[in-house]
Amino acid sequence: MKNSNNKIVKKGDLPSKICVYCNRQFTWRKKWAQNWEEVLYCSEACKKKKFTPLIK
Ligand SMILES: [Zn+2]
Repeated sequence: MKNSNNKIVKKGDLPSKICVYCNRQFTWRKKWAQNWEEVLYCSEACKKKKFTPLIK
């Protein structure tokens, strides 16, 4: 696995983001391997709120 900087990511050192809806930190998941750059929400529940962030 590699992160956005194309460096090898060690196990336990996964990338993470802050959910734009609930502001909770969430960690990279395998299902996001193909679109991690586009992921904005920690879960489907937050995604369904269709919250539009003011700052992208
Ligand atoms: Zn969330």
